[in-house]
Amino acid sequence: MQALIKGALVVGENQEAIGDVRIAGERIAAVGQELTPEQGEEIIDAKGKILIPGGIDGHTHLCLDVGFTQVSDDFYTGTLAAAWGGTTTIVDHPGFGPAGCPLDHQIHTYHALAQGKAVIDYGFHGVIQHLDGQTLAQMSALAEEGIPSYKVYLTYDYKLSDSEVYQVLVQARKERLLIAVHPENDGIIGYLRGQMVREGKTAPSYHPLSRPVACEAEAINRMILWANLADDAPLYIVHLSNERGLTFIRDARRRGQQGLYVETCPQYLLLDDRCYDQPGAEGLKYLMCPPLRSVQDREGLWEGLVEDIDIVATDHCPFFFETQKLRGKDDFTQCPSGAPGIEERIPLLFSEGVMKKRISLRRFVDLCSTNPAKLFGMYPQKGVIRPGSDADLVIIDPAVKKVLTQKQLHARVDYSAYEGWEVQGYPEWVISRGEVLIRQGVFSGKPGRGKFIPRQRPPAVEA
Ligand code: MN
Repeated sequence: MQALIKGALVVGENQEAIGDVRIAGERIAAVGQELTPEQGEEIIDAKGKILIPGGIDGHTHLCLDVGFTQVSDDFYTGTLAAAWGGTTTIVDHPGFGPAGCPLDHQIHTYHALAQGKAVIDYGFHGVIQHLDGQTLAQMSALAEEGIPSYKVYLTYDYKLSDSEVYQVLVQARKERLLIAVHPENDGIIGYLRGQMVREGKTAPSYHPLSRPVACEAEAINRMILWANLADDAPLYIVHLSNERGLTFIRDARRRGQQGLYVETCPQYLLLDDRCYDQPGAEGLKYLMCPPLRSVQDREGLWEGLVEDIDIVATDHCPFFFETQKLRGKDDFTQCPSGAPGIEERIPLLFSEGVMKKRISLRRFVDLCSTNPAKLFGMYPQKGVIRPGSDADLVIIDPAVKKVLTQKQLHARVDYSAYEGWEVQGYPEWVISRGEVLIRQGVFSGKPGRGKFIPRQRPPAVEA
């Protein structure tokens, strides 16, 4: 489109001033004060509004197959919901492929799943589910095809052994790749879950007790030490849920460890383990791994958001309550793990963070857009409002008050973890590569318009 956004508070990296932004085609053409309209340009009056670079959600699970069931969102419905919530790019974490499959198997599978479906731009992390003679070399080869980040699991069926994780970290350091980790202690959690089932402790309220903070924090610390042993391999801790884990990250950084990054999610900032005590099987709506933690952990994460936490992503992993989550109604261990949240992230963090003055507007933009663009290798194409960057732009109206409710949200699922939550401020315009997707409550995007974004390698670690 050819458009001139006038009079917005433009917020980006080292940027916070009233100004105008010109869009020409798919890119930002100019950022300045009192830009003169050109012929044929649509003028968007944004006085009193806030203009931010489009949100980037670096942790989603669309089309995820967990064996006995699949998440409810595909690349159309999931990215549609993302767009409504002000997110213009996702980096999806593919599920595990068939046992023994090569590293590129899931990348090919996910390219096919996203093709013709995605409304917004997307990328994929790789997932390492075993090591064979090829895996390490394939990591480097796939990085050349725009996949410079890989996830390893310390729990679940395809967890890697200590020596495998170490080899992956060494390769990541050598080839400048980012290793994302799901850190939980598999052995203790497996034991506790089994014990609870044997003792009939199968209500949702036992879920957090089966995955204690110590089991997550310990695994975080283990990964930090191994990354350090691998000469500061680039390490990304996903979905940090608790304060204890953060102390290990702070300590390592204080000791000078480089290449260490951490993500949290809105659910760990806004919800807590009292959700599991809701009547009946309602608590299953919040059954996720790691679980929701204490009020104190929640507050500790807000403090961490000011400086230490790099990224807020969603871990969007939706299952229908009635037909999927209730599988765990008599035994929480039978419930698929995960919750929706792709659409709620930016409205919640803006309202609870910025409007309630817990984080600054610029910090909000860093956490939701600029930092993920940099760490996941899409900067300055994305994550910043600058001439030459993609015109991925969101206009937030800070005066709008809204109540989040599943009926008005767009993910293909029958509940929101934030049902009834009042927010102030909401994305009013959502523009992706110069195309208006949301215009004051009207969606006009098309499935398949979203592009695969080949990503660059993460920031260098000094020798
Ligand atoms: Mn996840």
